[in-house]
Amino acid sequence: MTAPSPPGLLRAPLVVEFPFTRSLGPVQSAFLTGLRERVLLGVKTCDGRVMVPPVEYDPVTAEDIRELVEVAATGTVTTWAWNGRPRPNQPLGTPFAWVLVRLDGADTALLHALDAPGPEAVRTGMRVRVRWAAERTGAITDIACFEPCDGADGGPATPHDGAFADPVTGIVAEARLDYTYSPGRAQTAYINGLSRRKTIGERCPSCHKVYVPPRGACPTCGVATTDQVEVGPAGTVTTYCIVNIKARNLDIEVPYVYAHIALDGADLALHGRIGGIPYDQVRMGLRVEPVWTEGGRYPDHYRPTGEPDADYDAYKELI
Ligand SMILES: [Zn+2]
Repeated sequence: MTAPSPPGLLRAPLVVEFPFTRSLGPVQSAFLTGLRERVLLGVKTCDGRVMVPPVEYDPVTAEDIRELVEVAATGTVTTWAWNGRPRPNQPLGTPFAWVLVRLDGADTALLHALDAPGPEAVRTGMRVRVRWAAERTGAITDIACFEPCDGADGGPATPHDGAFADPVTGIVAEARLDYTYSPGRAQTAYINGLSRRKTIGERCPSCHKVYVPPRGACPTCGVATTDQVEVGPAGTVTTYCIVNIKARNLDIEVPYVYAHIALDGADLALHGRIGGIPYDQVRMGLRVEPVWTEGGRYPDHYRPTGEPDADYDAYKELI
């Protein structure tokens, strides 16, 4: 949890979200297809240990391992931690324990959730069993969670050929990170400046460098930057690259130029797209100015001002 921001500081939700698509290979394919069929599979390592969840390479020798075995749906908690406030998309909506469970027949432990009324009901060494999800698709969530049980040891692992009809060969794992982001004092001033189409940097009181965007401190001198300085709006291209790969969700025709631009008065270059000039005519030293679009929160791109190019000596320290 984060403390409330002081008055005047910006604060906003920031969500980083992406799907991760992967193929499974023979071992993970058998493991996840097995879950769909309520069969728990592990793999034997070169020294005869049974790993659940299974891996494709021996953790000691790095040799391929393919010898699958079936283990029981009962096991023993080897360690745990109480989760008093479940977050969205966690296995259970009510408080639960994260547990490592060594399934009977396995030598390693599997991470999952344990449905228990409270932390006093959880202990290392307790016996648990799998609660299967009602609908299973070939994913780790096919195990809904574990639940306490009194059952006897499920016995040793038994050989399994890993063959199933309609095996799962790939998965899409959705990754999502929810942040509440506060840019801090310096960047709040910078962002508020952009809303007035002004670029606000901060000067180091020791070395007098002007940082844009400002981070609130000078990384060289280790002191807070306090003096606000308006820079630009025009600047100089210090270096650039030609982008030939079209990014998803970005409506810009390739090729286009992305450049480091040292705004006049700044001692640090920022990034921006260069437009209004053929991509193969962009050069170091080109003088540019920002182009704003209606409602834009920052310059859409920079275009040539028509001034003569800057001398290399004028920007060589900013590359
Ligand atoms: Zn400094």
